[in-house]
Amino acid sequence: MRNVNQVTIIDGYNDEPAGLGVPPYLDIYARYTAGAIWTYDKSIKIHYFTIDEVRENYNQILKKANKSEIVILIAGMIVPGKYLGGTPIKTKEVLQIAKALTKPVKILGGPAARFGFGIEGGRKTITIREIEEEFDIIVKGDLEIVVYNLLREGLETSKVNPEERRENAHQIREFAIKGAKIVLDHPNYGLNLICEIETYRGCPRFITGCCSFCAEILHGLPDFRPIKDIVDEVEALYNFGVRNFRLGRQPDIYSYMAYGVGETEFPKLNPDALRKLFSSIRRIAPNLKVLHIDNANPGAIYHHQEEAIEITKIIVEHHTPGDVAAFGVESADPKVIKANNLKAYPEEVIKAIEIINSIGVKRGYNGLPELLPGINFVYGLIGETKETYELNLEFMREVMRRGLLVRRVNIRQCIPLPGTRMWKVGTKIIQRHKKIFKIYKDKMRKEIDLPMLRKVIPTWTILKEVYLEEFDGTLTYGRQVGSYPILTCIPMKLKLKRFIDVVVVDHGYRSITALPHPIKINMLNMKTLTRIPGIGMKRAAKIIHKRPIGNLEELSSIIKDDELLIKLKKVIDFSKR
Ligand code: SF4
Repeated sequence: MRNVNQVTIIDGYNDEPAGLGVPPYLDIYARYTAGAIWTYDKSIKIHYFTIDEVRENYNQILKKANKSEIVILIAGMIVPGKYLGGTPIKTKEVLQIAKALTKPVKILGGPAARFGFGIEGGRKTITIREIEEEFDIIVKGDLEIVVYNLLREGLETSKVNPEERRENAHQIREFAIKGAKIVLDHPNYGLNLICEIETYRGCPRFITGCCSFCAEILHGLPDFRPIKDIVDEVEALYNFGVRNFRLGRQPDIYSYMAYGVGETEFPKLNPDALRKLFSSIRRIAPNLKVLHIDNANPGAIYHHQEEAIEITKIIVEHHTPGDVAAFGVESADPKVIKANNLKAYPEEVIKAIEIINSIGVKRGYNGLPELLPGINFVYGLIGETKETYELNLEFMREVMRRGLLVRRVNIRQCIPLPGTRMWKVGTKIIQRHKKIFKIYKDKMRKEIDLPMLRKVIPTWTILKEVYLEEFDGTLTYGRQVGSYPILTCIPMKLKLKRFIDVVVVDHGYRSITALPHPIKINMLNMKTLTRIPGIGMKRAAKIIHKRPIGNLEELSSIIKDDELLIKLKKVIDFSKR
């Protein structure tokens, strides 16, 4: 029996289909685990560090960690992407850190512990024996439950079952509330931190065997967190200063508290529960800045259209604009849909997009449409042929032809996970279609992403509160806070870690170019002036020659273009400093 005074949590980040923990996102693992520790004994000191902080200050942090009785490392990218806010822990870093820790009980938690290391789309996850040997506990169950049990057992690891899971969703209530305080130690706290909130786990389609690739099968049928538990957790986070939230930890927000779970794969949606959930959050967090959602099941929306319309209205009434309902379409090929037991056929998905569009396209105060669907495609599934690629592209062309808007198209290769049907299939289909995957990804970017982005965020749009995160040469990168924020490139070197408004001046496939709003026409250099649409080299030279320009009339006499002047009028400023 050992006393515990200090615990260190190293957050190597996680990215899962239902849950994001790469900064500025803080997911549930560190929060619930801290809550479990403080539920056991509120005097235990917890040191929380992100892996980026560890890299910057390796020796000092490791020294501190070595003095802790327990070190918990969180890791695992199941749907890895490219990240601006942080660099997820690498396998070799996990090993390096584990080897450097000699005294504490070492625990590995998160998706990497449960499934292995994802590394990248199109590869099977791998478990690394060397890593397994370095840790005292590899948590296959729920990290917070295992850590709580370990404390109760006086750190006797042999008495703890690493596969132990919560008995029900209500069991984590106290952990979720007490762990909220850990946000104070997050490097993005007070800046652009956004907390991922869980509403349930498990999928109603468990009764049909789930989609072939989906790890939700391991959670069984949905186990909904009570509304009060979620709201009290949000309140605790809010009281500690968190202002940005995403109800992102569930396979489908529309199916929260649905009726008939276990009887049908698409249980009847429950707008009343969602109204209560959203309105209660707004009541207890009146000055929140972001309230977004993530995954939504187009099949559930299609099968319960009336309720889905009501829920969409509820979301739009209570959330903040720029929100995304990510549709796991996965494939538009009927053969692939059938072979992998996917949730919706193309026409059903189109209907679901229409429903969201009918309410969500209007533009909100931050410059973005209120709520748009996002489309996820997964490649490498059973029954995939070359035709699948054309069918998926054709599906998106049809979305365009119908004038529908989607926020983004996400294309990834399946990572076969243990416990899913795809685990046995492996990566052979992915390997076979490697070349065509690249060709069609490019086609999707050019034919769909670019024209779609121009419609979703047109030139001259003013985007509010873009957080400046990084420099690269003369470019500054920023994003708004929220679900799938658009990458904003500003062709100037600006002070980081602050929010600014910007004017959209150009589009990439998955990013926009923008200038700080208002555009200070008397201050910009020649090169930056030419980034303003309609201002070429000649006009930019004239502007510079005639500066300072005092008003619109003077500008009009230089550019001699009334249409352009109307656009500029809304976004420029004649100040000289
Ligand atoms: S519908 Fe399919 S992909 Fe979505 S959670 Fe259920 S099993 Fe997973």
